[in-house]
Amino acid sequence: MVPDGLPCGCGSRGCWEQYASGRALRRYGRERAAADPVLGKRLLELNEGVADTITGSQITQAAEEGDPLALAVYDELADWLGRGLADLASLFDPGVFVLGGGVSDSGALLLDPVAKAFEKYLIGGVHRPRADVVLATLGSSAGIVGAGDLARQH
Ligand SMILES: [Zn+2]
Repeated sequence: MVPDGLPCGCGSRGCWEQYASGRALRRYGRERAAADPVLGKRLLELNEGVADTITGSQITQAAEEGDPLALAVYDELADWLGRGLADLASLFDPGVFVLGGGVSDSGALLLDPVAKAFEKYLIGGVHRPRADVVLATLGSSAGIVGAGDLARQH
């Protein structure tokens, strides 16, 4: 997604996962709260004044309370998610995107801005069928339940 971007666990740089994941959500929250403690007041309050260890659920709680910094963090994450989904849609034109993993536990807080970003970045959006963007029914457990199911079949 980002030439010479952040290093990734896969050995490459600038991978989507570094910008649109639960880990990215925490990083955005920690960086923004540290950079602007006034705007980050609520997040810092929730984590006893420490920016470095702010958790995803603290960001979610603050966003649900309407905290501007936490909502901006969600918007940044959603923008990257929507951008990547638009790229995938321009290649594959799927009927639906199902978001799983840790970020999917955020519900509408994530889904609404992701859908907006997806539309913003989708090339030729008025001429192609619009994919639905939904959350995985099993949320952050989808991967482990799938792995368990696969093991059961063998
Ligand atoms: Zn990677």
